[in-house]
Amino acid sequence: MKPLPKEFDVIAIERKWQKKWEEMGVYRFDWKDRKRPTFSIDTPPPYPSGEFHMGNVLNWTYFDIVARYKRMRGFNVYFPQGWDCHGLGIEVQVEREHNIKKRDVPPDKFRKLCEKLVEKYIAMMKEGVIRLGCSVDWTTEYRTMNPEYWKRTQLSFIILYNKGFMYRGKHPVNWCPRCETAIADAEVDYEEREGALHYIRFPLEGRGNEHLLIATTRPEFIPACVAVAVNPVDDRFNKYIGRKITVPLVNRTVEIIPDENVDPSFGTGVVMICTYGDKEDVKTVIRHKLPVIALLTEDGKITRNGGKYAGLTIEQAKKAIVEDLKAAGLLEKIEKIRQEIGVCDRCETPIEILELPQWFMKTRILTDKVEKAANEVVWYPEHMKNRLIDWARSLDWDWVISRQRVFGTPIPVWYCKNCGETIVAKEDWVPVDPKLENPRTDKCPKCGGKEFIPEKDVFDTWMDSSISCAVHAGWPEREDWRRLFPADLHPSGVDIIRTWAYYLDG
Ligand SMILES: [Zn+2]
Ligand SMILES: [Zn+2]
Repeated sequence: MKPLPKEFDVIAIERKWQKKWEEMGVYRFDWKDRKRPTFSIDTPPPYPSGEFHMGNVLNWTYFDIVARYKRMRGFNVYFPQGWDCHGLGIEVQVEREHNIKKRDVPPDKFRKLCEKLVEKYIAMMKEGVIRLGCSVDWTTEYRTMNPEYWKRTQLSFIILYNKGFMYRGKHPVNWCPRCETAIADAEVDYEEREGALHYIRFPLEGRGNEHLLIATTRPEFIPACVAVAVNPVDDRFNKYIGRKITVPLVNRTVEIIPDENVDPSFGTGVVMICTYGDKEDVKTVIRHKLPVIALLTEDGKITRNGGKYAGLTIEQAKKAIVEDLKAAGLLEKIEKIRQEIGVCDRCETPIEILELPQWFMKTRILTDKVEKAANEVVWYPEHMKNRLIDWARSLDWDWVISRQRVFGTPIPVWYCKNCGETIVAKEDWVPVDPKLENPRTDKCPKCGGKEFIPEKDVFDTWMDSSISCAVHAGWPEREDWRRLFPADLHPSGVDIIRTWAYYLDG
């Protein structure tokens, strides 16, 4: 017999037993067992960040306590673990580490770099989950970046498309000029930053030297000014409604329009409507059917529509325009203000609004269903339910599901080169990358054309994770996937109620 070692090596002993238990499969879900009741946990697949941090430790401890308690109570417990790989953060990290932009290298090479980084991060985090002693069933492990998983994301898209929930349209979207991609409302964070209110004279058409004073934090949008608005109940200005006014520097005349949403107490009470300085502009343009002047390129520069400011960055254009306004004697004063602005939740760059063709999921028509479903679930704590319902009710726009990124699940769509007809993959074509293969049809169903243009965009990463609970249950391969669907426990961080819980529910 070996004598007991003088010092007890906890870590070595722990590893020995963890390995042994894994080999014995003590935490496995038993698919064949039809006697014990099942209990399934919709483990949130984390973004591989390389760090299994204290927040993760706390959360996985909660999941594990439930899993072990239910096992002891005689349940056949399903405790899966996956990895949500396609985060924008991975692309940003690869760009920083290799000092490249995603468009500088071929897409497959960029993808490989992302996959390598993800694998490195997963290994570190998996070690954390194991060391913590979580009773995860590792036979369930999955990665959303594998074609095996894409297949499911693509299938969910095709099914929803065939049901009429998916559409492609040209709509204004939140845009990060640094990441060069559309992002959903849920990915916009709000920060208070210092801004400046510029008081600018807009000369009135016709009569001598009359002008109206407009206060704006975004003078760089002057070239995209399509109207000037005042509140019809504001007696200081309603007499000007219907008259023409000159947009300074670009010397275009626009109409002064009445709009009830103008706040007479903000700035001077007269506002310029630009395409698009902010979300309010989007609403006003739709209400009054105003023209759209696209001012920004996808990488945040001024387009040709900006005249002499074309090619400048937003910041440079702001400086140049302010200088030109001063020189022309049209800038009355500048006041510092604190303002809340939307920024990209990955890189903190201020969000712009761009109008480009994108894929959308109709989510606003589901608001009542989301509310009904939220009411059928038992929430801990109870009041968090309202967070989901309030979020669903607050949405102005449908969910933009396309991303102008490289590392993501491909959108399984082609367009006819001749007539532009959209060809969506059939359910049995997936997984498919339209950039690498043609649709499995010999001609366009509309015009008979034989050439196709692939959709280059990829899905929002929440399209991948929004189906976690069905994937865990074995959808679509297992005929009995409804046995574990919906999950018995959906543990969620408060911060992802507006994304994971909402999209899942939707
Ligand atoms: Zn960004
Ligand atoms: Zn065609």
